[in-house]
Amino acid sequence: MAASVGANTAVVERAGVSGATAVLPRVSRLDPPPRNLIEFSRRFASEKACEEYLFIVRYPTGFICPKCGNERGWLLQGKRLIECPNGHKISLTSGTVMHRTKQELVTWFHAAYLMTTLTPGFSALQFQRQMGLSRYETAFNMLHKFRAALVVPGREPLHGEVEIDEAYVGGVEEGRPGRGGETKALVVCAVELVRWTDKKSRRERVRTGRVRLRLVPDASAASLVPFITESVKGGAIVHTDGWPSYGTLRAKGYDHRAVVQGTGKDAQYMPHVHKIFANVKRWLLGTHHGRVTAQHLQAYLNEYTFRFNRRFWRGPAFHRALGLIVQTEGHPTPSAP
Ligand SMILES: [Zn+2]
Repeated sequence: MAASVGANTAVVERAGVSGATAVLPRVSRLDPPPRNLIEFSRRFASEKACEEYLFIVRYPTGFICPKCGNERGWLLQGKRLIECPNGHKISLTSGTVMHRTKQELVTWFHAAYLMTTLTPGFSALQFQRQMGLSRYETAFNMLHKFRAALVVPGREPLHGEVEIDEAYVGGVEEGRPGRGGETKALVVCAVELVRWTDKKSRRERVRTGRVRLRLVPDASAASLVPFITESVKGGAIVHTDGWPSYGTLRAKGYDHRAVVQGTGKDAQYMPHVHKIFANVKRWLLGTHHGRVTAQHLQAYLNEYTFRFNRRFWRGPAFHRALGLIVQTEGHPTPSAP
């Protein structure tokens, strides 16, 4: 069959060069994200397809050899390398979580797709079985590297109206009274409230917008306030309980509205942030069987946050996740010291 030359991918087999190679397009464009698992599997069935995708993500405006400036290059298939006419070999995965790993790119891509599109996520054990990986540790490490990279650099702070609270989450001893203290971890959550009017009933309704979750060492102002100033735009309405650590928020430029707990209205008090905590806890217990330790919790919180904030944009989330994973190795992940 003749090599097909599409407007977008323009892949041409080069005869006579050792190893299968493909000339790379001058300017690349991402195809629409896969709409379902069948589409995904068809599109990313081979290492070659994954390499070409990585190339597009890394060089959206076209390849330029970092060593000689040449704008031509081709893929050394199966080697995760681009070669320029002067013989320079540029790694497709350097600086990413996929660099120097033995796992196939197909496996990494499956992890990205499943993690961003499956509502409850999945466990390392499920991933190991589905991908046919021989070792549990391999599956765990792949997923964990992904989670650590899932923080969007320079993401826009929450704004408008926000509920903030903290709660003890996770730990392998969940549900075993008397032994939980040392493994549970304190997490602070901020959730945006979006108010809208129902056209039929003309009643105002509230839904949750985006969330931020961070593991903190304690509930002191020194732990909680920096999370708020980094996650929430100044001037926002901030609802918290009456915990003294939140006492400086007004001075920090927020419209702080503290509600003192202990009244009969407790049940309805800050329902959105409590719903997030309930969901996070259920997810850790259900999908991950409560096996998440405090040491790894922030990475799981990253995964939850990433998926939650993109729950209406599943397809683009896959592109975004791979984009982050390609670009953000070593990106500082907020975590407890
Ligand atoms: Zn070069």
